[in-house]
Amino acid sequence: MSLNINKLLRENIRSLKPYSSARDEFSGEAVAFLDANENPFNSPWNRYPDPRQVKLKTRVGEIKNVAVPKIFLGNGSDEPIDLLFRAFCEPGKDNIVSINPTYGMYRVAADTNNVAVNLVPLSDEFELDADAVLAAVTADTKIIFLCSPNNPSGNALDNHAILRIIESFSGIVVVDEAYIDFCPEKSFLPQLDQYPNLVILQTFSKAWGMAGLRLGMAFASESIIDVLSRIKYPYNLSILTQQKGLELLSNEQQMLDWVAIILKEREKMIANLKKYPFVVKVYPTDANFVLVKTHDPRGIYQYLVNAKIIVRDRSSIALCEGCLRISIGSPEENATLMEAFDELI
Ligand SMILES: *Cc1c(COP(=O)(O)O)cnc(C)c1O
Repeated sequence: MSLNINKLLRENIRSLKPYSSARDEFSGEAVAFLDANENPFNSPWNRYPDPRQVKLKTRVGEIKNVAVPKIFLGNGSDEPIDLLFRAFCEPGKDNIVSINPTYGMYRVAADTNNVAVNLVPLSDEFELDADAVLAAVTADTKIIFLCSPNNPSGNALDNHAILRIIESFSGIVVVDEAYIDFCPEKSFLPQLDQYPNLVILQTFSKAWGMAGLRLGMAFASESIIDVLSRIKYPYNLSILTQQKGLELLSNEQQMLDWVAIILKEREKMIANLKKYPFVVKVYPTDANFVLVKTHDPRGIYQYLVNAKIIVRDRSSIALCEGCLRISIGSPEENATLMEAFDELI
Protein backbone atom coordinates (compact mmCIF):
# COMPACT_ATOMS: atom_id res chain seq x y z
CA MET A 1 0.00 0.00 0.00
CA SER A 2 1.29 3.45 -0.76
CA LEU A 3 0.49 6.28 1.57
CA ASN A 4 0.52 9.96 0.80
CA ILE A 5 1.65 11.41 4.11
CA ASN A 6 1.45 14.93 2.75
CA LYS A 7 -2.24 14.58 2.01
CA LEU A 8 -2.93 13.31 5.52
CA LEU A 9 -1.06 16.16 7.21
CA ARG A 10 -2.74 19.30 8.48
CA GLU A 11 -2.25 22.19 6.07
CA ASN A 12 -0.27 24.32 8.58
CA ILE A 13 2.08 21.41 9.34
CA ARG A 14 2.63 20.71 5.66
CA SER A 15 3.92 24.23 5.14
CA LEU A 16 5.69 24.57 8.50
CA LYS A 17 9.26 25.75 8.46
CA PRO A 18 10.80 24.12 11.54
CA TYR A 19 12.93 26.00 14.06
CA SER A 20 16.54 25.50 13.16
CA SER A 21 18.69 25.41 16.25
CA ALA A 22 22.33 26.38 16.41
CA ARG A 23 23.23 22.76 17.06
CA ASP A 24 21.20 21.68 14.02
CA GLU A 25 23.25 23.84 11.71
CA PHE A 26 26.66 22.84 13.01
CA SER A 27 27.48 19.47 14.51
CA GLY A 28 31.25 19.08 14.02
CA GLU A 29 34.10 19.68 16.47
CA ALA A 30 34.63 23.40 17.11
CA VAL A 31 37.30 25.27 19.10
CA ALA A 32 34.78 27.86 20.26
CA PHE A 33 31.02 27.53 20.48
CA LEU A 34 29.78 31.10 20.16
CA ASP A 35 26.56 30.35 18.33
CA ALA A 36 23.91 29.55 20.93
CA ASN A 37 24.20 32.26 23.60
CA GLU A 38 25.21 29.63 26.13
CA ASN A 39 27.18 30.43 29.26
CA PRO A 40 30.80 29.33 28.68
CA PHE A 41 31.05 28.16 32.32
CA ASN A 42 29.41 25.28 34.20
CA SER A 43 30.42 22.55 31.74
CA PRO A 44 28.85 20.21 30.69
CA TRP A 45 25.45 21.52 31.76
CA ASN A 46 25.94 24.84 29.98
CA ARG A 47 25.59 23.26 26.51
CA TYR A 48 22.31 22.53 24.77
CA PRO A 49 21.74 18.81 24.22
CA ASP A 50 21.92 17.15 20.80
CA PRO A 51 18.51 17.90 19.21
CA ARG A 52 18.87 14.83 16.97
CA GLN A 53 19.91 12.50 19.81
CA VAL A 54 22.28 10.66 17.48
CA LYS A 55 24.14 8.56 20.06
CA LEU A 56 21.01 7.48 21.92
CA LYS A 57 19.11 6.73 18.71
CA THR A 58 22.01 4.69 17.39
CA ARG A 59 21.93 2.54 20.52
CA VAL A 60 18.13 2.21 20.38
CA GLY A 61 18.46 1.21 16.72
CA GLU A 62 20.90 -1.56 17.68
CA ILE A 63 18.63 -2.89 20.41
CA LYS A 64 15.45 -2.73 18.34
CA ASN A 65 17.06 -3.55 14.99
CA VAL A 66 15.56 -0.45 13.37
CA ALA A 67 17.33 2.14 11.17
CA VAL A 68 17.92 5.48 12.91
CA PRO A 69 15.76 7.54 10.45
CA LYS A 70 12.77 5.42 11.50
CA ILE A 71 13.18 6.24 15.22
CA PHE A 72 11.65 9.12 17.18
CA LEU A 73 12.58 9.60 20.84
CA GLY A 74 10.40 11.64 23.15
CA ASN A 75 9.62 12.76 26.68
CA GLY A 76 7.84 9.45 27.37
CA SER A 77 5.45 7.92 24.82
CA ASP A 78 3.09 10.72 25.73
CA GLU A 79 5.11 13.11 23.54
CA PRO A 80 4.74 11.21 20.23
CA ILE A 81 1.04 10.59 21.06
CA ASP A 82 0.45 14.35 21.34
CA LEU A 83 2.63 15.12 18.29
CA LEU A 84 0.63 12.67 16.14
CA PHE A 85 -2.54 14.60 16.97
CA ARG A 86 -0.88 17.92 16.24
CA ALA A 87 0.52 16.70 12.92
CA PHE A 88 -2.51 14.94 11.48
CA CYS A 89 -5.73 16.01 13.22
CA GLU A 90 -7.40 19.33 12.40
CA PRO A 91 -8.95 20.58 15.68
CA GLY A 92 -12.73 20.73 15.64
CA LYS A 93 -12.91 18.75 12.41
CA ASP A 94 -10.95 15.49 12.30
CA ASN A 95 -11.42 12.49 14.58
CA ILE A 96 -9.60 9.39 15.75
CA VAL A 97 -10.91 5.88 16.37
CA SER A 98 -9.84 3.85 19.38
CA ILE A 99 -10.96 0.92 21.51
CA ASN A 100 -12.69 0.84 24.88
CA PRO A 101 -11.33 0.27 27.45
CA THR A 102 -7.78 1.36 26.72
CA TYR A 103 -4.98 3.70 27.81
CA GLY A 104 -6.33 7.06 28.98
CA MET A 105 -3.71 9.28 27.32
CA TYR A 106 -5.19 8.96 23.80
CA ARG A 107 -8.39 10.58 25.11
CA VAL A 108 -6.49 13.29 27.02
CA ALA A 109 -4.37 14.14 23.97
CA ALA A 110 -7.51 14.16 21.80
CA ASP A 111 -9.34 16.48 24.22
CA THR A 112 -6.32 18.77 24.50
CA ASN A 113 -6.22 19.07 20.74
CA ASN A 114 -10.03 19.37 20.38
CA VAL A 115 -10.24 16.18 18.33
CA ALA A 116 -13.24 13.83 18.60
CA VAL A 117 -12.78 10.19 19.62
CA ASN A 118 -14.93 7.37 18.22
CA LEU A 119 -14.69 4.50 20.69
CA VAL A 120 -15.29 0.88 19.70
CA PRO A 121 -15.93 -1.50 22.60
CA LEU A 122 -13.79 -4.61 22.96
CA SER A 123 -15.61 -7.91 23.61
CA ASP A 124 -16.33 -9.10 27.16
CA GLU A 125 -12.99 -10.93 26.96
CA PHE A 126 -11.31 -7.69 25.71
CA GLU A 127 -10.88 -8.97 22.16
CA LEU A 128 -10.53 -6.69 19.14
CA ASP A 129 -13.28 -6.63 16.50
CA ALA A 130 -11.49 -5.36 13.38
CA ASP A 131 -14.72 -4.93 11.40
CA ALA A 132 -16.27 -2.80 14.15
CA VAL A 133 -13.16 -0.59 14.29
CA LEU A 134 -13.15 -0.14 10.50
CA ALA A 135 -16.90 0.57 10.56
CA ALA A 136 -16.29 3.42 13.04
CA VAL A 137 -13.99 5.17 10.56
CA THR A 138 -15.43 8.29 8.88
CA ALA A 139 -14.12 10.54 6.10
CA ASP A 140 -12.45 12.66 8.81
CA THR A 141 -10.73 9.84 10.70
CA LYS A 142 -6.97 10.39 10.59
CA ILE A 143 -5.62 7.97 13.19
CA ILE A 144 -6.66 4.63 14.71
CA PHE A 145 -5.11 4.01 18.15
CA LEU A 146 -4.67 0.39 19.25
CA CYS A 147 -2.85 -0.82 22.35
CA SER A 148 -1.38 -4.31 22.53
CA PRO A 149 -0.90 -5.68 25.15
CA ASN A 150 -3.83 -3.50 26.13
CA ASN A 151 -3.99 -1.39 29.27
CA PRO A 152 -5.96 -1.96 31.54
CA SER A 153 -7.04 -5.44 30.34
CA GLY A 154 -3.50 -6.83 30.00
CA ASN A 155 -4.11 -9.07 26.97
CA ALA A 156 -2.33 -8.77 23.65
CA LEU A 157 -4.87 -8.13 20.88
CA ASP A 158 -5.10 -10.59 18.00
CA ASN A 159 -2.33 -9.70 15.52
CA HIS A 160 -4.41 -10.81 12.53
CA ALA A 161 -7.16 -8.39 13.52
CA ILE A 162 -4.60 -5.59 13.98
CA LEU A 163 -3.06 -6.38 10.61
CA ARG A 164 -6.43 -6.23 8.89
CA ILE A 165 -6.93 -2.74 10.31
CA ILE A 166 -3.47 -1.61 9.20
CA GLU A 167 -4.06 -2.98 5.70
CA SER A 168 -7.61 -1.63 5.31
CA PHE A 169 -7.30 1.89 6.73
CA SER A 170 -5.85 4.65 4.58
CA GLY A 171 -4.79 6.81 7.56
CA ILE A 172 -2.30 6.27 10.38
CA VAL A 173 -2.56 3.19 12.62
CA VAL A 174 -0.80 3.51 15.97
CA VAL A 175 0.00 0.28 17.81
CA ASP A 176 1.06 1.09 21.37
CA GLU A 177 3.43 -1.67 22.49
CA ALA A 178 4.34 -0.25 25.91
CA TYR A 179 4.22 -3.76 27.41
CA ILE A 180 5.72 -5.67 24.48
CA ASP A 181 8.91 -6.65 26.35
CA PHE A 182 6.74 -9.02 28.36
CA CYS A 183 5.68 -10.82 25.11
CA PRO A 184 8.27 -9.78 22.45
CA GLU A 185 7.15 -12.37 19.90
CA LYS A 186 3.96 -10.39 19.33
CA SER A 187 5.64 -7.13 18.30
CA PHE A 188 4.92 -5.56 14.92
CA LEU A 189 8.40 -4.04 14.79
CA PRO A 190 9.83 -6.68 12.38
CA GLN A 191 7.04 -5.74 9.94
CA LEU A 192 7.54 -1.97 10.16
CA ASP A 193 8.95 -1.64 6.63
CA GLN A 194 5.91 -3.26 5.05
CA TYR A 195 3.40 -0.72 6.37
CA PRO A 196 4.02 2.98 5.66
CA ASN A 197 0.95 3.95 7.75
CA LEU A 198 2.04 2.04 10.87
CA VAL A 199 3.38 3.83 13.95
CA ILE A 200 4.64 1.62 16.78
CA LEU A 201 4.99 3.15 20.23
CA GLN A 202 7.30 1.60 22.82
CA THR A 203 8.75 2.91 26.06
CA PHE A 204 11.63 2.47 28.47
CA SER A 205 9.23 3.10 31.37
CA LYS A 206 8.16 -0.51 32.00
CA ALA A 207 10.48 -3.47 31.35
CA TRP A 208 13.57 -1.27 31.27
CA GLY A 209 12.74 0.35 34.60
CA MET A 210 13.27 3.97 33.52
CA ALA A 211 9.87 5.59 34.09
CA GLY A 212 11.58 8.45 35.93
CA LEU A 213 13.79 9.31 32.96
CA ARG A 214 10.82 9.95 30.64
CA LEU A 215 12.04 8.22 27.52
CA GLY A 216 9.60 6.90 24.94
CA MET A 217 9.95 5.73 21.36
CA ALA A 218 7.98 5.88 18.14
CA PHE A 219 8.95 3.75 15.15
CA ALA A 220 7.53 4.47 11.70
CA SER A 221 8.37 5.15 8.06
CA GLU A 222 10.95 7.86 7.53
CA SER A 223 8.35 10.33 6.26
CA ILE A 224 6.24 10.05 9.43
CA ILE A 225 9.30 10.29 11.70
CA ASP A 226 10.45 13.38 9.75
CA VAL A 227 7.15 15.08 10.51
CA LEU A 228 7.33 14.31 14.26
CA SER A 229 10.94 15.54 14.37
CA ARG A 230 10.04 18.79 12.65
CA ILE A 231 7.30 19.69 15.13
CA LYS A 232 8.88 18.52 18.40
CA TYR A 233 10.53 20.95 20.80
CA PRO A 234 14.09 21.19 19.43
CA TYR A 235 15.67 20.07 22.72
CA ASN A 236 12.97 17.65 23.90
CA LEU A 237 15.43 15.28 25.61
CA SER A 238 17.78 16.86 28.16
CA ILE A 239 21.46 16.05 28.51
CA LEU A 240 20.59 14.08 31.64
CA THR A 241 18.04 11.90 29.85
CA GLN A 242 20.30 11.26 26.88
CA GLN A 243 23.36 10.43 28.99
CA LYS A 244 21.62 8.31 31.60
CA GLY A 245 19.49 6.59 28.95
CA LEU A 246 22.59 5.61 26.98
CA GLU A 247 24.27 4.35 30.14
CA LEU A 248 21.29 2.26 31.25
CA LEU A 249 20.75 0.84 27.76
CA SER A 250 24.21 -0.75 27.86
CA ASN A 251 22.85 -3.56 30.00
CA GLU A 252 20.15 -5.37 28.06
CA GLN A 253 20.71 -8.57 30.02
CA GLN A 254 19.65 -6.79 33.19
CA MET A 255 16.30 -5.95 31.60
CA LEU A 256 15.82 -9.55 30.42
CA ASP A 257 16.58 -10.82 33.94
CA TRP A 258 14.04 -8.42 35.45
CA VAL A 259 11.40 -9.50 32.92
CA ALA A 260 12.06 -13.18 33.76
CA ILE A 261 11.55 -12.49 37.47
CA ILE A 262 8.40 -10.45 36.82
CA LEU A 263 6.92 -13.18 34.60
CA LYS A 264 7.59 -15.82 37.28
CA GLU A 265 6.07 -13.57 39.93
CA ARG A 266 3.10 -12.97 37.65
CA GLU A 267 2.32 -16.68 37.42
CA LYS A 268 2.59 -16.99 41.20
CA MET A 269 0.34 -13.97 41.70
CA ILE A 270 -2.32 -15.32 39.32
CA ALA A 271 -2.36 -18.73 41.01
CA ASN A 272 -2.59 -17.12 44.46
CA LEU A 273 -5.33 -14.65 43.50
CA LYS A 274 -7.57 -17.46 42.28
CA LYS A 275 -7.68 -18.89 45.82
CA TYR A 276 -9.52 -15.93 47.32
CA PRO A 277 -13.32 -16.07 47.57
CA PHE A 278 -13.63 -12.35 46.80
CA VAL A 279 -11.89 -12.85 43.44
CA VAL A 280 -14.42 -13.50 40.67
CA LYS A 281 -11.99 -13.68 37.75
CA VAL A 282 -8.35 -13.14 36.90
CA TYR A 283 -8.09 -12.02 33.27
CA PRO A 284 -5.34 -13.47 31.06
CA THR A 285 -2.39 -11.08 30.77
CA ASP A 286 0.61 -10.50 28.49
CA ALA A 287 1.82 -7.52 30.54
CA ASN A 288 3.41 -6.77 33.93
CA PHE A 289 0.02 -6.38 35.61
CA VAL A 290 -3.19 -8.34 36.05
CA LEU A 291 -6.79 -7.22 35.88
CA VAL A 292 -8.80 -8.90 38.63
CA LYS A 293 -12.58 -8.90 38.91
CA THR A 294 -13.72 -8.86 42.54
CA HIS A 295 -16.97 -8.75 44.50
CA ASP A 296 -16.10 -5.47 46.22
CA PRO A 297 -13.48 -3.36 44.38
CA ARG A 298 -13.98 -0.17 46.43
CA GLY A 299 -13.85 -2.05 49.73
CA ILE A 300 -10.77 -4.04 48.79
CA TYR A 301 -9.05 -0.97 47.39
CA GLN A 302 -9.69 0.96 50.62
CA TYR A 303 -8.63 -1.99 52.78
CA LEU A 304 -5.33 -2.15 50.87
CA VAL A 305 -4.79 1.62 51.11
CA ASN A 306 -5.18 1.32 54.88
CA ALA A 307 -2.47 -1.36 54.76
CA LYS A 308 -0.35 1.09 52.69
CA ILE A 309 -0.63 -1.05 49.56
CA ILE A 310 -1.73 0.84 46.46
CA VAL A 311 -3.42 -0.86 43.52
CA ARG A 312 -5.48 0.73 40.73
CA ASP A 313 -9.27 0.76 40.99
CA ARG A 314 -10.54 0.33 37.43
CA SER A 315 -14.10 -0.59 38.41
CA SER A 316 -15.67 2.50 36.83
CA ILE A 317 -14.06 1.84 33.42
CA ALA A 318 -16.04 0.28 30.54
CA LEU A 319 -16.24 -3.55 30.76
CA CYS A 320 -14.19 -3.46 33.98
CA GLU A 321 -16.99 -3.64 36.54
CA GLY A 322 -15.58 -4.91 39.85
CA CYS A 323 -12.01 -4.76 38.55
CA LEU A 324 -8.73 -3.84 40.21
CA ARG A 325 -5.53 -3.58 38.20
CA ILE A 326 -2.54 -4.93 40.09
CA SER A 327 1.04 -4.34 38.94
CA ILE A 328 3.49 -7.21 39.45
CA GLY A 329 5.95 -5.89 42.01
CA SER A 330 9.09 -7.27 43.60
CA PRO A 331 8.79 -10.70 45.28
CA GLU A 332 8.62 -8.85 48.63
CA GLU A 333 5.89 -6.47 47.50
CA ASN A 334 3.83 -9.30 46.03
CA ALA A 335 4.19 -11.32 49.25
CA THR A 336 3.01 -8.29 51.23
CA LEU A 337 -0.10 -8.08 49.06
CA MET A 338 -0.84 -11.78 49.52
CA GLU A 339 -0.43 -11.48 53.30
CA ALA A 340 -2.91 -8.61 53.31
CA PHE A 341 -5.35 -10.69 51.25
CA ASP A 342 -4.87 -13.67 53.60
CA GLU A 343 -6.03 -11.46 56.47
CA LEU A 344 -9.07 -10.34 54.54
CA ILE A 345 -10.68 -13.82 54.38
C1 LIG B 1 2.78 3.03 30.67
C2 LIG B 1 2.24 3.20 29.29
C3 LIG B 1 2.91 3.97 28.35
C4 LIG B 1 4.21 4.61 28.70
O1 LIG B 1 4.15 5.94 28.79
P1 LIG B 1 5.51 6.77 29.02
O2 LIG B 1 5.03 8.14 28.76
O3 LIG B 1 6.50 6.28 27.99
O4 LIG B 1 5.96 6.51 30.40
C5 LIG B 1 2.42 4.06 27.07
N1 LIG B 1 1.29 3.41 26.72
C6 LIG B 1 0.63 2.64 27.59
C7 LIG B 1 -0.56 1.89 27.15
C8 LIG B 1 1.07 2.53 28.90
O5 LIG B 1 0.39 1.77 29.77
